[in-house]
Amino acid sequence: MNRFRPWTKNLNSKFKSTTSKIQSSLSSSSSSSSSSSSSSSSSSSSSSSSSSSSSTSLSSASSSSSSSSSSSLSSTSSSSKAQDPSTSASFLPNAPPLLASSQKIDRKNKTYNKFPSTNDAPLDVYSIIQNRLLISFLSKTKCELCEKQWDGSVQMNKREGLFVILSFQCSYCKNIIVLNSSPQVPGSKQHDINIRTQIAGHLTGIRHAGLKRISAALNIPPPIEEGRHNKKDRHLLESIKLCATDSMRNAIKQAVSTAKSSDLTVSGDGTWQTRGFASKHGAAALIANGPSPKVVDIDTFSKTCNVCAGASSLLQIGTSESRSKYDQIIKNHQCGKNFDQSSGNMEAVCTLRMFERSETKYGVRYLKYVGDGDAKTFSLLLKKKPYKGVKIEKIEDINHFGKRLKRALKTVKSQCGGMKLSDGKTIGGKGRLTGNVKEET
Ligand SMILES: [Zn+2]
Ligand SMILES: [Zn+2]
Repeated sequence: MNRFRPWTKNLNSKFKSTTSKIQSSLSSSSSSSSSSSSSSSSSSSSSSSSSSSSSTSLSSASSSSSSSSSSSLSSTSSSSKAQDPSTSASFLPNAPPLLASSQKIDRKNKTYNKFPSTNDAPLDVYSIIQNRLLISFLSKTKCELCEKQWDGSVQMNKREGLFVILSFQCSYCKNIIVLNSSPQVPGSKQHDINIRTQIAGHLTGIRHAGLKRISAALNIPPPIEEGRHNKKDRHLLESIKLCATDSMRNAIKQAVSTAKSSDLTVSGDGTWQTRGFASKHGAAALIANGPSPKVVDIDTFSKTCNVCAGASSLLQIGTSESRSKYDQIIKNHQCGKNFDQSSGNMEAVCTLRMFERSETKYGVRYLKYVGDGDAKTFSLLLKKKPYKGVKIEKIEDINHFGKRLKRALKTVKSQCGGMKLSDGKTIGGKGRLTGNVKEET
């Protein structure tokens, strides 16, 4: 377990907070919450307690001496070799110097103790362990019931996606110990590992099909069945949205404190689902300027709605019944279509909308805009004036400026062609404007 500590620190800072936030929002938004006394922000403690509960299940059948579950796991192995550095007498003046291995253990324990909460950081990490090795690990311990050297078999009692319940039976006394491979998200019936896997599928863009291949290659159980996976996506999306909103609010707070003002400098950019200005979907984001730029607002635009498109088939039936059904669907649905201009205007309109809502949403104004060279966006901001009586200042982004400069020079070169300039030479040639400008972006 010690081995994981250096990178768990990174892992914690980057992903743990995000995923645990998603978890906590999942648990709080879950309707099936039964006895989740742990509310909102206690995600880290809840996940740590649940991780320890999963390891208690290793020793659950005994319930005799194990006060802390993880110690019961490590006690048998650590007693043989690694002496506990806290009990070591090496800190005494005349004590012999520590052996290399004890020094290592000591050092790692110190790193471990740096974590604010003693037992959540490394214990939240997953280890992919081959079952054969689990058996060989158990065979180094003694059976909790008959106290013989453990010898037995493993069986999978339950599987749900990557979550498994394994049972280990002692061949002498038939005592069974059970191991849950992942904790349950508090207030939900879902297991932590399956939620993480689903998020991973979206973050990497490989989705369910890709996750299945990864599982096959790693020889681990496949993710939850596709239908259920898709169903859970909706729930997950809501939780991720909450998490994103939270993150953007924090980003605004940071930007305001860095700028020491509620008038901020932001940069913006847009993207389309498909190239060529005919995309049905687009998105744009604003990023606060500063030493650690973070996304402060996002918006998406869609020129189609799946529900509207699906319902239109009812109109083709032509009966009054189908017509009224169509009207009902259209009336009750939350339409996904929110844009009917040309796709080329998406970025500009999207950006303007985020500017217009900045005061009501966050109480800030974006007074300086680092443009990406999309002239439409800035001219729309100038025209519509999202902040009364204040002109937004444009700051040119050097990358896009360079790109535009290059394009302009190329145009000049092609226009001049072989024409002789005032010095009697053409525009091209050695030491003059060549066509070999390296494209960086
Ligand atoms: Zn036994
Ligand atoms: Zn619609």
